[in-house]
Amino acid sequence: MRTGAHIWIGEGIEKAVDTAEMLGCGCFQIFLQNPRSWKRRKRADEEISAFKKSVKRSNIKPVVVHMPYILNLASPDKKIAAMSQALFEKEMIEAESLGADYYVIHPGSHRGAGIEAGMKNLAASLRPFAASSPRILLENTAGQGNTIGGRWEDFAYLFGRFGNDIGLCFDTAHAFQAGYNIKDEEKLNEMLGAISTNLAPGAILLIHANDSASPMGSGLDRHQHIGRGYLGEEAFELLVKDAYCGTLPFIIETPKSEINADRKNLEILRTIGMKYGKINKLNPSGKKAILDKKMVRPHNVTSINL
Ligand SMILES: [Zn+2]
Repeated sequence: MRTGAHIWIGEGIEKAVDTAEMLGCGCFQIFLQNPRSWKRRKRADEEISAFKKSVKRSNIKPVVVHMPYILNLASPDKKIAAMSQALFEKEMIEAESLGADYYVIHPGSHRGAGIEAGMKNLAASLRPFAASSPRILLENTAGQGNTIGGRWEDFAYLFGRFGNDIGLCFDTAHAFQAGYNIKDEEKLNEMLGAISTNLAPGAILLIHANDSASPMGSGLDRHQHIGRGYLGEEAFELLVKDAYCGTLPFIIETPKSEINADRKNLEILRTIGMKYGKINKLNPSGKKAILDKKMVRPHNVTSINL
């Protein structure tokens, strides 16, 4: 089990590696650029090589890139689909140049065209990159409105097309908000078994470890600090002790509204990891910790569906 956080890259992507190390991260996630903007700037070669060097030295793995919120690869609107595709291609090329391991995708919204149509549009977008590096991971959603990916079976079409070339990112808050009672061991096992049988064995490659600020089945994508939401620490204990999930990277996308919020949330996860023998140090990097900055801007906002 590796633990890590979503790190803001405001001070540059190379700095993000330092921040991750100071938080004791064994893995981490970033946005490549402002997740709410269509504008891109070309990244300098020196910046890319400095980032790769820092990652190599830090022994952090996997390096995860998250798709910008504004993209909707499932859109039936030709203009939005083309804009999303163009930016997605830039993102994938940049993520590859940075040596990222995984690229996490929010499946998007079908805008009334239906889940099947949405998944077909998404499949067409993914096709040029499905077998390339970084590996594409589809994230489950809270399932609100026309959002696709609230039910795991929504992804069956994509696994039918691409098999193990793609994978899944299991967001704990989203699953709960979409109606999966992952606080109940039996229900959790049922869900994990269905994913393995109906999509692909070993399809889940990453966990977004977030508590939920909204109730089960609410469809509302609201993240909360670990142990302070509707899931509670016990839900994370079930995951950590699970023979399969307990081997995966756990990345938090919890609110950063308090000083040291990431550090505290990671410590809770690592304490659980130690309890079940999945981790042997509270601070695996051994780097001296500094205070996390208080981030006013939350990064756990629901994707904007175009
Ligand atoms: Zn997530």
